[in-house]
Amino acid sequence: MKQYDVIIVGLGPTGGTLANLLALNGFSILILEREKNLYALPRAVHFDDEIMRVFQTIGITKKFLKNTIINKGTKFVNSEGKILLDWPRPKAITENGWYPSYRFHQPDLERHLRNRLKTFKKVRLLQNTEVIKIKNNKNFVDLFFKRKNKTQKVSSKYVIGCDGARSTTREQMGSVLDNLGFTQKWAVVDLILRKNKNKLPDRTIQYSNSERPATYCRNVGKRRRWEFAIQDNENEKEILSDEYIWNFLKPWLNEKEAYLERKAIYIFQSAIARKWRKGRIFIAGDAAHLMPPFMGQGMCAGIRDASNLAWKISWCINNKHDEKFLDTYQTERFSNAKEYIETTMRMGEFVNAVGSDNITDNISSGPDGTKSMQSIRPKLGIGLGSNKDKNRGKIFPQLKMKNGKTLDEKFSKSPLLLTSYKLAKKISLKKIQSITDKDIKGLNNLLKTYKAKALIVRPDRFILKTCNSVNDFNRINYLPL
Ligand SMILES: Cc1cc2nc3c(=O)[nH]c(=O)nc-3n(C[C@H](O)[C@H](O)[C@H](O)COP(=O)(O)OP(=O)(O)OC[C@H]3O[C@@H](n4cnc5c(N)ncnc54)[C@H](O)[C@@H]3O)c2cc1C
Repeated sequence: MKQYDVIIVGLGPTGGTLANLLALNGFSILILEREKNLYALPRAVHFDDEIMRVFQTIGITKKFLKNTIINKGTKFVNSEGKILLDWPRPKAITENGWYPSYRFHQPDLERHLRNRLKTFKKVRLLQNTEVIKIKNNKNFVDLFFKRKNKTQKVSSKYVIGCDGARSTTREQMGSVLDNLGFTQKWAVVDLILRKNKNKLPDRTIQYSNSERPATYCRNVGKRRRWEFAIQDNENEKEILSDEYIWNFLKPWLNEKEAYLERKAIYIFQSAIARKWRKGRIFIAGDAAHLMPPFMGQGMCAGIRDASNLAWKISWCINNKHDEKFLDTYQTERFSNAKEYIETTMRMGEFVNAVGSDNITDNISSGPDGTKSMQSIRPKLGIGLGSNKDKNRGKIFPQLKMKNGKTLDEKFSKSPLLLTSYKLAKKISLKKIQSITDKDIKGLNNLLKTYKAKALIVRPDRFILKTCNSVNDFNRINYLPL
């Protein structure tokens, strides 16, 4: 029986991203997906610059960019149309090298991820295949799946369950999903305009209204979305009838102007799994956490998980398995995901007109009294590196090198030491490449802003360590060799 390096359960955006990041390292990967085909209906419509940077590492941005538009931000209005809160997304390139926020169509992204996977010879995808049992052994994992009515067994060094909200992997690990308190039924209606309708806003509008909280989204091309909350005592069949939906949409458009692409009812919920790893089995994405979509961050959190886990698993395959090192996946990601969940819950309460506008710590009032909110950027939780190090866990900017390439394009597999050419000559760090002011213009000045002689940056672009003395360079024992 062939043993794979990694088996991934579920090929949604989390599994697709993780498989691609691991495949860049040349590993043998088996992906098992229950559905026969790609899930073609819209779900996520927004992602941010940090996520685009991960897509850039994978190598899909050139084609995928054509299927995106820049998101201009969100306005929260009350039932009289008065703006209660503004959440602008300035059209300026961020430290990540991309615009702060994009709109997209989830099936487009999943198609690009799958097409990229086809370019790796050692990646195998089995669709129409359901994983039923996963068992940890000392140095490998056994996995049982059902395909064409037959149960088969495979094994691998690591298994990652990217198998969504009702994760089999989570259940097999015995991990409990803790409900964080937000549970609400919403109808989601996707439409395609027959002709451009310029009167519809470019911004997302959150209708903060206790009777019928609702959201409008301007999506890519002629796609538009409306979402609205429904009460428990309302009849779901009636709400999803064409008659009800067109009546709801009356203030904005009619049947002659657009057609319904799909309509569905979702339970928006907030939850987080207690345990994200058991031995050599992990969970990531919706399998590990769920949040309502008000901030458009559910899928983004899964991509962040994939980015954090991919290089740690790669490091263990290439060097040695290390329990403590792999534990940092959950400790670093848990608090970051939880902060997004809790902020989204506060936003949901504000849209429900039951909570205050105190959604984040970053809200300011303009000269006309309009309040404005900024996006959150939670740091990594405790994990690799020292918490006393002020730079540790911050995202490092995407820099241009003198040869025209970006740092990300050149280095994505191992940690990177950034320092002056003078210092680099005196240091040799095992398995860590270095780059100096000879390759990057202005690097020494940038290091000064971090109060650092050198920085070590992880492959997922977060700062691992600030180095200022010889001792700092000697104490990197948390990378197992
Ligand atoms: C209405 C709506 C709007 C949203 N908007 C946004 C947004 O704007 N931005 C954002 O970031 N997020 C958004 N989200 C959330 C986003 O869609 C999800 O977070 C994302 O799809 C999760 O990706 P995933 O890969 O973790 O899981 P999934 O996409 O659920 O994929 C899991 C895969 O695992 C497979 N699977 C499950 N069990 C098994 C098994 N036993 N064996 C084999 N395969 C299995 C499934 O078939 C599926 O393909 C939204 C969600 C909804 C519902």
